[in-house]
Amino acid sequence: MIEVDGLTRIFRTYKKQPGFWGGVRGLFHREYEETAAAKDVSFRIAEGEFVAIMGPSGCGKSTLLNLMGMLDTPSSGSYVFAGQEVATLPEARLAEVRKANIGFIFQSFNLVDELTVRENVELALLYHAVPAAERRRRVDEVMDRVGIAHRARHRPSQLSGGQQQRVAVARALVAEPRLILADEPTGNLDTAHGEEVMRMLRTLNEEGATIAMVTHSPAHAAYAGRTVEMLDGRVLVQTRRAA
Ligand code: ADP
Repeated sequence: MIEVDGLTRIFRTYKKQPGFWGGVRGLFHREYEETAAAKDVSFRIAEGEFVAIMGPSGCGKSTLLNLMGMLDTPSSGSYVFAGQEVATLPEARLAEVRKANIGFIFQSFNLVDELTVRENVELALLYHAVPAAERRRRVDEVMDRVGIAHRARHRPSQLSGGQQQRVAVARALVAEPRLILADEPTGNLDTAHGEEVMRMLRTLNEEGATIAMVTHSPAHAAYAGRTVEMLDGRVLVQTRRAA
């Protein structure tokens, strides 16, 4: 489903030059530093796979996830998503492909506390042209699936961290994306709730969801079928879990 070839993302940060004359010189000659956050990254993710991405802080995991999630575009290289080259798509078109195909789960849940659990999940469908009755049916079904139907009328802040992440998973799932991207989904959870969320992701994967997840925890990476290890913007090794 995903074919990444030689993907590179370079960030350019401009240096501020000190003093008045430095500022004037900076108008004509800007000095900058370049950071290659992803360097020549190549890998595949097949439909139905569950892949964990690991590596030390600053090695490029978020950069890679942002590229895969079409929240950012590469400096060079190719990214084929479901048969379509997306590396060179303009921003508006990229947003369409993203909305139609990708669900996100974040470390910090990113729920709206002014809305109920049900409304938070439903929000993800408002950007899609889904009729109201169908929307209700899908929201009910997905809340049931992640086990938060009994909390539908609560506010996110009235729930435990684990329950909030379940709501976020429901929100990621409700538009039936082809790919789920999770950025340290257990990073803000205690051990028990972290395990609970991991078991849920494993079940979703067993039911057919394709998942790529950034994690710092080897125990949580073990839930995935394959681990991609990164270092200094490069993919170092890929290991497959023994069956
Ligand atoms: P990780 O998620 O593994 O901690 P990141 O992908 O966030 O790593 O960052 C990889 C490298 O790219 C780091 O050196 C970081 O400082 C740099 N970087 C990330 N985003 C930007 C940005 N928007 N501008 C400049 N440098 C960035």
